[in-house]
Amino acid sequence: MTIAPTTTSLPGIAIIGGGPAGLMAAEVARSAGVQVDLFEGKGSVGRKFLIAGKGGLNLTHGEPRPQFDARFGERREAIAGWLDGFDADALRAWAGGLGIDTYIGSSGRVFPGDRKAAPLLRGWVRRLRESGVRFHVQHRWLGWDEAGALRFAAPEGEQRVQAGATVLALGGGSWPQLGSDGAWQPWLAGRGVEVAPLQPSNCGFDIGWSAHFAERHAGAPLKPVVAHWQDASGMEHALQGECVVTQTGIEGSLVYALSATLRDAIAREGQATLHLDLAPGRDLDRLRRDLAKSRAGRSISEHLRRQAGLLGAKASLLHEVLEKPQLQDAGTLARTIKRLPLVLRRARPLAEAISSAGGVRLEAMDASLMLDAVPGTFCAGEMLDWEAPTGGYLLTACFASGRRAGLAAAAWLASGRIEAGPIEATPGVSP
Ligand SMILES: Cc1cc2nc3c(=O)[nH]c(=O)nc-3n(C[C@H](O)[C@H](O)[C@H](O)COP(=O)(O)OP(=O)(O)OC[C@H]3O[C@@H](n4cnc5c(N)ncnc54)[C@H](O)[C@@H]3O)c2cc1C
Repeated sequence: MTIAPTTTSLPGIAIIGGGPAGLMAAEVARSAGVQVDLFEGKGSVGRKFLIAGKGGLNLTHGEPRPQFDARFGERREAIAGWLDGFDADALRAWAGGLGIDTYIGSSGRVFPGDRKAAPLLRGWVRRLRESGVRFHVQHRWLGWDEAGALRFAAPEGEQRVQAGATVLALGGGSWPQLGSDGAWQPWLAGRGVEVAPLQPSNCGFDIGWSAHFAERHAGAPLKPVVAHWQDASGMEHALQGECVVTQTGIEGSLVYALSATLRDAIAREGQATLHLDLAPGRDLDRLRRDLAKSRAGRSISEHLRRQAGLLGAKASLLHEVLEKPQLQDAGTLARTIKRLPLVLRRARPLAEAISSAGGVRLEAMDASLMLDAVPGTFCAGEMLDWEAPTGGYLLTACFASGRRAGLAAAAWLASGRIEAGPIEATPGVSP
């Protein structure tokens, strides 16, 4: 005979997910005087935040609003509302309150003085514990039971919790080994919450190099280059930056910045073409003239190095896209150097991406981030349907939405309303 797990009632707020969004929700709700229990599936909180610190934690960006808001594309208006409550300056002041000074780098990106995440996270978790936030690690949320209680897989067996309000801050689906695996998608959909499928964002793309090129150049940087591409309306765009050759294609900050456009073009048209200018400092006519000079018995590679300043992976890319006779023609070579076509076949899998697009549709919630279909349940962070390039925008929006959801959950609790009762399952989907 199996014994049904007992349900514990919590008078305060259950926050599920101990990333930046959940921790921020916990902080503000606790400051509002509410009891806060934070549940985390892994054995410790903030694992993705710590990994973000490995590359030199880029907390936020120094550019002023509204340019900052524009980084969120079609979600800019909604996210501007979150940022009104907690913007880049507020984030820097908050970090300062934890004893972490920040600085603006030459690119405008904002980093902690030591560029590390661990000291900030350690200090923050200590302060949260001291303020009375109760942490329950190794508590993996499994959705709701038929009475609307939260179900958790815990070391001592399944636990059920009925809370006054709930904040879900479960992250997206990238780097699932760090805890955010997107398993929540069908559970929310089962309660009638509209969820856009998670997709890779800030990701690399497959091209399909020759074995020879991949073997010789995987890991090689391409810098500087200018990417040229057309948006869905046919408008031309250009952006200078850096990318990296991978075994199967390309990745790196320049590609990440374009990843939403490229991913959507592939979904629409089956592939996307990106043109790279491999020699941004040289104009086409000069290149053509220089490359038309006699090779005097020198190899093509040596000729490219001397006349166009191209070597390594950049020079080999010309061999990837041109036939042998074309490599002999100065005009073709020059044009290709200024507009090397790369055909992107598919985005790398979500598990490898820096972040996720898709998630809980903002249309499925009110401005306080409470789910219309599940009153008393709020959502925050990367699990919501927005995306942004790297540059500190991701963390800023996670903190800002966590703050909004935490404050709103505390206000909901104070108003004396309670969570919805038993669940009415959506036909065909188990809650
Ligand atoms: C390699 C890398 C580098 C990055 N660098 C930067 C950077 O420099 N700047 C920047 O702005 N952004 C960066 N990001 C993105 C940033 O880290 C994320 O956007 C951010 O961590 C998302 O915060 P979140 O709180 O929404 O989710 P997460 O940080 O993913 O936290 C969600 C938490 O919920 C827990 N969880 C999930 N499901 C369950 C469940 N069922 N039950 C219980 N707990 C659960 C997870 O274990 C996790 O702890 C980087 C990401 C990666 C992968």
